Amino acid sequence: MCGVFGIHGHDEAANIGYLGMHALQHRGQESAGLVAVEDGKLRRHVAMSLVSDAFDRESLATLPGRTAIGHVRYSTAGSSDLRNAQPFVFEYSGGQVSIAHNGNLVNANEIRAELEAQGSIFQTSSDTEVIVHLMAKAKNLTSPADVLGRLMFALSRVRGAYSLVLLTSDDKMIGVRDPNGFRPLTIGRLKDAFVLSSETSAFDLIEAEFIREVEPGEIVVIEKNGMTSHKLGFDQGAQSPSFCVFEHVYFARPDSLMNGKSVYRAREKMGMALAAEHPVEADVVIAVPDSGVPAAIGYSRASGIPFEMGLIRSHYVGRTFIEPQESIRHFGVRLKLSPVRSIVDGKRVVVVDDSLVRGTTSRKIVKMLRGAGAREVHMRISAPPTTHPCFYGIDTPNRSELVAASHTVEEIGRYVTSDTIAYLSHDGMMSAVAGSTSGNGYCSACFTGNYPVALGSENLVQLRANRAAR
Ligand code: AMP
Repeated sequence: MCGVFGIHGHDEAANIGYLGMHALQHRGQESAGLVAVEDGKLRRHVAMSLVSDAFDRESLATLPGRTAIGHVRYSTAGSSDLRNAQPFVFEYSGGQVSIAHNGNLVNANEIRAELEAQGSIFQTSSDTEVIVHLMAKAKNLTSPADVLGRLMFALSRVRGAYSLVLLTSDDKMIGVRDPNGFRPLTIGRLKDAFVLSSETSAFDLIEAEFIREVEPGEIVVIEKNGMTSHKLGFDQGAQSPSFCVFEHVYFARPDSLMNGKSVYRAREKMGMALAAEHPVEADVVIAVPDSGVPAAIGYSRASGIPFEMGLIRSHYVGRTFIEPQESIRHFGVRLKLSPVRSIVDGKRVVVVDDSLVRGTTSRKIVKMLRGAGAREVHMRISAPPTTHPCFYGIDTPNRSELVAASHTVEEIGRYVTSDTIAYLSHDGMMSAVAGSTSGNGYCSACFTGNYPVALGSENLVQLRANRAAR
């Protein structure tokens, strides 16, 4: 869970980078960073904070140049501290390179152990640093500055999910997506400048034009003369592509296009399918804002039950789930959401949320709604039960914490204390997202346990331990 951004060939690269990162803020709130290049030198500013707090006029002024890349981070691998804040900058015999990564490598620990045994000294606990070390060790290069050769070498060794944006001291900006295309990466134009962004929401903000997505397994190199496209030339031994369906369910911003499709429309369709699969007699449909809103509108439209804003979200707290510590997250639900008594008092209420992970949020919401007078509370989840952890970059927790990994839907309903509870089927979700129930082209491992790229040894240990604990 991270966002990456880059702009090449713009007089105000750092300022535009700052804006782009704003539009990707929902993808990670622990750290924010920008690296810009001028006269063969990379300059970097990172902070452990939101984008708006990480930068001010002075810090942006320390990042001159016409090309800049940025990163917002939520830690899925590696701890939450400044050393792990990206973009990283490193130096090798051919010059300086900066790298920003969204996704999660599944064999990083194995490679790291191998490199450490050969004498490499790692500075961070991030899986991304493995790519950096492999790039430094690359062989058969056309020259020391052959960054594409270095990158191809490094990526032929790693497995998992990566959408990367890189910047070199000789002013090349590079975008890459892994062969499965787990995470998004899009290309835009802002007048003469090229832009790369995790989501198209950033293009809308900076008034750039969306050109296309970086294809799974594609490397685009952007330099003074324009953009060239290259193929990674290997697959990960798996069905390809496998775009993350959870980007559609929860993670991406609804105003973004993912895989060429509107995230908002996909969520709305998920809500409509949910109403068809699991109707209920009720007076009002409400959403868990913000991410549940399009699906709740869809549920209302398909069922004919009016939609109201029965829960109000405070915009002064971040995503509660995003706080890694359990204690803060628990407190956060009450901080973040409040019921509107005049909407729910005496009513039979359908509450639509996009996903249920641990169940703690839903349990608190049901309690709050009953406290505000709701006569009945019917929980509706616009995705299937989240039964498996994600190892490709979404922070679905350890399987032991996933309530649906070890409980039936009925048991979950008892836990969250709703009158009824129901989830959208896998077929319903896939038809809403992709227009067919096959699921081809998508990764839905968090709902099925079918992991499209072979997991690393540490992932398997985790899965086995969780199974044993059940
Ligand atoms: P929980 O209390 O764990 O059941 O939290 C479920 C809530 O967290 C739902 O409202 C989702 O919108 C949201 N959510 C689901 N997955 C994630 C995630 N990976 N990161 C942050 N929030 C999430």
